Amino acid sequence: MKVTRPLEPEPRFRAPCGVFCPTCFLYMGNHDDPARLPHASVVLGVPEEDLRYEGCGSPRTAARCASCAVRRCAEERGVDSCADCPEFPCSLLRDAQEKSPQLREAEASLHVRRKQGFSGWFLRTQEEFRCPHCGTLNSVYDLWCRSCGASPSCPFAARNGEEALAFWKNRPSDFPRP
Ligand code: SF4
Ligand code: SF4
Ligand SMILES: [Zn+2]
Repeated sequence: MKVTRPLEPEPRFRAPCGVFCPTCFLYMGNHDDPARLPHASVVLGVPEEDLRYEGCGSPRTAARCASCAVRRCAEERGVDSCADCPEFPCSLLRDAQEKSPQLREAEASLHVRRKQGFSGWFLRTQEEFRCPHCGTLNSVYDLWCRSCGASPSCPFAARNGEEALAFWKNRPSDFPRP
């Protein structure tokens, strides 16, 4: 069953980088789209049990996320997100944005978070990932809606989906970490 209901801004979704955790590849694989997890496991060469993920703000994050430089930096600086950091937007964040399709609009996303706070940002941002036809939440990697097949699957994928797919195909040994 794909997610169509509005999601609440839970603390576990407080990714400091501006990523919307519920549409992260790993999060979907651990929740409503379990077929993604074995795929990620093969691509990464990491056992599925090491890819358990409940959101970047949760203590239960995959090892790769626990070692994320942006996450560590925000922790060390004691800021809830990069939006609260005086260095924002720094080269570390811009670098991460450059490397990952899921982070492609991180800087813009964090500007919204700075203005609207976490809850306002969360409610607004989820609409960027919602199918305009059936309301299902999709990821940047879903060129077609996971429920109704509409394309593009959501506004975010309309802007970044083709690039995301090329990224995935061109880097089979890497994982498009959020
Ligand atoms: S890129 Fe880093 S900070 Fe952003 S969601 Fe992933 S682990 Fe968290
Ligand atoms: S220095 Fe950069 S990566 Fe670190 S918290 Fe500030 S904006 Fe985020
Ligand atoms: Zn749909």
